[in-house]
Amino acid sequence: MDYEKIFKHIYEELEKIENKGQVADYIPELSMVDPNSFGVQLTTVEGEKYAFGDSNIRFSIQSIAKVFSYVLAYSLVKSDLWDRVGVEPSGTAFNSLVQLENDRGVPRNPFINAGAIVICDILVSELQSPKEEVLSFIHELSGVNSINFNHTIAKSERANGFINFALVNFMKSFGNIHNDIDDVMDLYFNICSIEMSCEELSNSFLFLANNGVVPYSGAKILSSSRTKRANALMQTCGFYDEAGQFTFKVGLPGKSGIGGGIVAVHPMKYCITVWSPPLNSKGNSYKGMLFLEEFTTQTELSIF
Ligand code: GLU
Repeated sequence: MDYEKIFKHIYEELEKIENKGQVADYIPELSMVDPNSFGVQLTTVEGEKYAFGDSNIRFSIQSIAKVFSYVLAYSLVKSDLWDRVGVEPSGTAFNSLVQLENDRGVPRNPFINAGAIVICDILVSELQSPKEEVLSFIHELSGVNSINFNHTIAKSERANGFINFALVNFMKSFGNIHNDIDDVMDLYFNICSIEMSCEELSNSFLFLANNGVVPYSGAKILSSSRTKRANALMQTCGFYDEAGQFTFKVGLPGKSGIGGGIVAVHPMKYCITVWSPPLNSKGNSYKGMLFLEEFTTQTELSIF
């Protein structure tokens, strides 16, 4: 299939539609991105690569990084992980405090902020140098050693992270945070600040399309059964309070971030990443969602 021609065609069609999205501005660094940036990268498990637009420009991957931290934690601990974080879509905002009170400090899933903070707590318990080891893990998955945190963004996340601090304190009061809050949040805010390109993201997520094995290195990251679970969680919980819409319209497991990136995986076939910074009202890339809907419709390459 001539994917690059399809990308161009869909892009041109989307150019005719007004972009009703808004770039994230809860921290100043994110609001400075060019709203017209647009990149796509598809990588197949056989190693073919197809790119369009700004596919090599790094952007703030934000919540997409929650998949990396979750997979790393899951590869280190047993299934008692699920005593501390659930596997249900939240049906509420990604940073809801109300739900956490009802659920007695156990977050609904690893991709809402509270769940990702519990995952960071597990990594702080399990790893000697959590930040460095998370980065090394991403270097291993991507094959690119220059991927890094953006320290200005991490600092800004911390300075504005009042709700995230409320979440972690709340969970600590229920006994679901075992380490020092500052250590856990330092890891959390740094993970949010990682910058990667569409190409790097597509390559890094490819193991989730390949039964847990990185195709180009042969490294086994997760068992087949745990890979199934990671994809299932992305399918049901990967798009804030819009995972149902994404499943309905696109039909792939995936994860979005407030920097405007979306990564989606077709098991046994490919991984695709789209980046377009303006976000819809649910926090997902406005044109990224439309692009992927058109892509799986035109190519008939959804999992359903
Ligand atoms: N850094 C954001 C926060 O912790 C999350 C960003 C995202 O959802 O992509 O509030």
